[in-house]
Amino acid sequence: MAIREIRKKGDEILYKKCKEVKNFDNKLHILLDDMYDTMKKQEGAGLAAPQVGILKRAVVIDVGQGRIELINPEIIEESGEQTGSEGCLSVPGVWGEVTRPNVVTVKAQDRNGKWFKMTGEGLLARAMCHETEHLDGKLFLDRVTKFID
Ligand SMILES: [Zn+2]
Repeated sequence: MAIREIRKKGDEILYKKCKEVKNFDNKLHILLDDMYDTMKKQEGAGLAAPQVGILKRAVVIDVGQGRIELINPEIIEESGEQTGSEGCLSVPGVWGEVTRPNVVTVKAQDRNGKWFKMTGEGLLARAMCHETEHLDGKLFLDRVTKFID
C-alpha cells in the first residue's frame, strides 16, 4: 500500500475520458488500496483513478459508512434534489454549492469483476455523482452555483 500523488486542477489528465477496466487483477487491487489510503490520508470522501494519474474507470468512496469501490460505474437511476457544499481533493481549499440528485442508483463491478447495483442517498449520492463525473473528465467546478468563502 502506498500514498499516491493527487493530481490538481490544471493537470490535463483530469480532463480526459477514462477507459473501461477490463482486467480485474492484482494491479487493479493495488490501485484501489492505494486510492483508498490516499483518500483517507487527505480526509476525502471519494477519489477517482484519474486523480492519481490513472485513466481507468475506478472509484473509491467512504462517506463514513464504510469503503465502497465502484469499477466501470454507470448511474442508472436518480431522483430528488439536494443542494449543498462540495469540494474535491484535486481542487484544494475550494468549496462550492452544487445541486445533485438526492438518491442515485449505480450499476458497477466490484474489484473481482462481479456486477452489482447500489443505491445511495444524500452525501453518498453526491459522492457517486461527483466521482463518476471524474471518469468523464469533468470537475465539480462546472456545476458550482455559488462559491463558499
Ligand atoms: Zn473530485
